[in-house]
Amino acid sequence: MDMRIIKKYILTHFKCRSCGSCCCIEGGVVYINMQEARQIAELLNISRLSFMSEYVVKDWGWLMISTERHRPGCFLDEENKCQIYDARPYACKTYPDWPEIWGSIESLSKETKICPGLKAGYHSYFLD
Ligand code: SF4
Ligand code: SF4
Repeated sequence: MDMRIIKKYILTHFKCRSCGSCCCIEGGVVYINMQEARQIAELLNISRLSFMSEYVVKDWGWLMISTERHRPGCFLDEENKCQIYDARPYACKTYPDWPEIWGSIESLSKETKICPGLKAGYHSYFLD
């Protein structure tokens, strides 16, 4: 099975359902870099220092705005909308185009349990 063809098809037809499920994966971590920290602080209209102390945890030099224990819902509001959408981190902007998802049918299939947009594309490719 050629994962490149499957990926191209599914991502070309991909429609995000805005469900927020990918923002609160069990055990998930949302990393940022300093440039993203600056952009998010700017969007929130607070200083970078306030942003860092209020929203960010550090571990071995990594900066995280959400972990299992720290702000597990990340920046989702009650309607599952990202409150920092325009300044969201690179990983959020590129999901679900992550190499680890497209490495095998098994990893893709596993991810369809999280993302209904992927699930629809997967079903369309394999079942329609
Ligand atoms: S920054 Fe926004 S898009 Fe990214 S995980 Fe957090 S809530 Fe979701
Ligand atoms: S899980 Fe998929 S469909 Fe839901 S918000 Fe994330 S990308 Fe969109």
